Amino acid sequence: LMQLYQPLNFLGFVYASLRQGVVDLEQMFRLLGQPQDVSDRPEASLLPPRLEDAPAASLEFRDVRFGYREDREILHGISFRVPPGGRTAIVGPTGAGKSTISRLLFRFYDAWDGSVLIDGADVGDYAQASLRAAIGVVPQDTVLFNDTIRYNIAYGRIGASQDEIEHAARLAQVHDFVLRLPDGYDTRVGERGLKLSGGEKQRVAIARTILKNPRILVLDEATSSLDTHTEQEIQAALRQVSAHRTTLVIAHRLSTVVDADEILVLDQGDIVERGTHRGLLATGGLYASMWAAQAEESRPEGNRA
Ligand code: ATP
Repeated sequence: LMQLYQPLNFLGFVYASLRQGVVDLEQMFRLLGQPQDVSDRPEASLLPPRLEDAPAASLEFRDVRFGYREDREILHGISFRVPPGGRTAIVGPTGAGKSTISRLLFRFYDAWDGSVLIDGADVGDYAQASLRAAIGVVPQDTVLFNDTIRYNIAYGRIGASQDEIEHAARLAQVHDFVLRLPDGYDTRVGERGLKLSGGEKQRVAIARTILKNPRILVLDEATSSLDTHTEQEIQAALRQVSAHRTTLVIAHRLSTVVDADEILVLDQGDIVERGTHRGLLATGGLYASMWAAQAEESRPEGNRA
């Protein structure tokens, strides 16, 4: 019966959460029980989680092959390295395997072959709790708890002081917005409270991540388009949170990749091009055509070719 209870309990949580619209991505992953097929090795070491405890981390994929099911390989030998404090962006068509790369970094799954390394050691050598504490995610769609805006930001570091919360909110460009709310930081948000727009929620997520101060940052860029002003504010907030921090951008659009140190173009599980924005444009390959297509899309209706 206990074997039945766990999944049922989890489904109950998902159902209740979806109804309330308050699923937290990291909590969700935890509850999904994905680590059941990966467990801590007896000699697992601790990865310093926060930037104030250790410098930014290096990360590396070395010839990684992986699939969710034995009969279908999704990543066919991926290799790249992000130096400490570097910024790498992964772009490519839908289904290329971009999010799969971030799942392997979190070690939600183990690679079939090759290795995923942080600070030169395989992610499998680290205790999972310390691994996940070291990585901060700004997800595509942040879902808020039915609680105050203060709680929603402080969730990045339980026990943070009001000063720390406000500092993070300022850097995330959300402080002024909060001050205009009826009860300021005590305003209740979420399904049963004030509903925030996509851009506002994303800035709350950024403030949370600034508080968490992780050594590695994964930006899962929003697919939904925001208006230009909001987009610029979010970009400014993201620059704050990713400064001096090893950053992996999973880009579903191309606007945040321009200043990446390296852009990896993934297509059907292979890196087909790599380089800087300028370099890739000059090459005139897949990236250049994706860029041209996006520029065309974002032009005002009347000006389209
Ligand atoms: P998008 O830009 O649309 O988010 P992506 O590049 O992030 O796409 P992934 O989510 O990494 O793509 O998916 C790569 C492939 O793996 C897809 O074909 C997808 O169907 C498959 N896939 C993803 N998650 C699972 C899973 N949990 N089980 C089985 N197959 C999966």
